[in-house]
Amino acid sequence: MENIDWKSLPFGYLKTDYNTRCTYRDGKWGKIEISDSEYVNVHIAATGLHYGQEAFEGLKAFMGKDGKVRLFRWQENAERLRNSANGILMQEVPNEIFYESIITVIKNNKRFIPPYGSGASLYLRPLLFGSGAKVGISPADEYTFLVFATPVGPYFKQGFKPVDMLLTREFDRAAPRGTGNIKVGGNYAAGLRGMRKAHANGFASVLFLDAKEKKYIDECGPANFFGIKNNTYITPKSDSILPSITNKSLIELAKDLGLNAERRPITDVELETFEEVGACGTAAVISPIRKIVDDETGKTYHYTKDDIPGPISTKLYHKLQAIQTGDEPDKFGWVEIVKID
Ligand SMILES: *Cc1c(COP(=O)(O)O)cnc(C)c1O
Repeated sequence: MENIDWKSLPFGYLKTDYNTRCTYRDGKWGKIEISDSEYVNVHIAATGLHYGQEAFEGLKAFMGKDGKVRLFRWQENAERLRNSANGILMQEVPNEIFYESIITVIKNNKRFIPPYGSGASLYLRPLLFGSGAKVGISPADEYTFLVFATPVGPYFKQGFKPVDMLLTREFDRAAPRGTGNIKVGGNYAAGLRGMRKAHANGFASVLFLDAKEKKYIDECGPANFFGIKNNTYITPKSDSILPSITNKSLIELAKDLGLNAERRPITDVELETFEEVGACGTAAVISPIRKIVDDETGKTYHYTKDDIPGPISTKLYHKLQAIQTGDEPDKFGWVEIVKID
């Protein structure tokens, strides 16, 4: 599309041409419908509105140098959405409906796929919510699954530049055995005050500690946390962390680069010992962290010299992006080429 300035696209919503909807009603999923409306007509007593029966996904389609459109590990997103559905007793979306919806949305919004080399991509947002009416608390009988697309630029305006994180004990994002490990909107609502505090104090995001002991690193805003030291990639193990597909991929890439990889609890005390730290997720791939400030003790942990991201984070970042765009061969079988004609 001629009048989009691809290079300065924000990570935000831009209206595209079409989206899809599919409804589970009377015990079965219906047909995938294509819509040109940005709105859904929802029952005023829908459980998605009242009782938080809502989960979402986020994945990207990339235009390659070869003019082919690639999807990254969509099966993982489909599986995670099923886990989210199970976690809050919603109807699961079958793989075929998930995939068909995504492909339909990409095909019908071809002109919004950012060109190769722009740093932008087509972000896909699958959403599942209880659309059936209930006032007594119970799972809905009806569910709506919709997918929309929007072209996005890099999550952080500065691009692959180190950002600062605020470590706070004031707010929790998710409880052990709660819903932290599934991708539900409620976790985001719970995390907003922590995010606001971070932003208000000039930080890019918030680093949450585990809610029970307030001792272990949990999520890094809407992303997973990792640290690197002694040639080892280390990421927290916790029941309240969302299993990031980016993180899972970085672990594989780290091993492939000859690093060790560990998933284990990380205490705040250990923060001092890392050579590099970062946040990871689909939106930014990796956000290298310059410093972490503990808002209670005032302790500050510094990670970068002259604001330059660490060498291993940099290597991992470029490697993953090269696979996603098709610049490098995909020996892991992560990428699927989408036929869009
Ligand atoms: C989506 C999400 C992530 C990142 O997951 P990816 O699969 O890498 O995009 C991390 N943390 C939270 C809380 C999330 O919701």
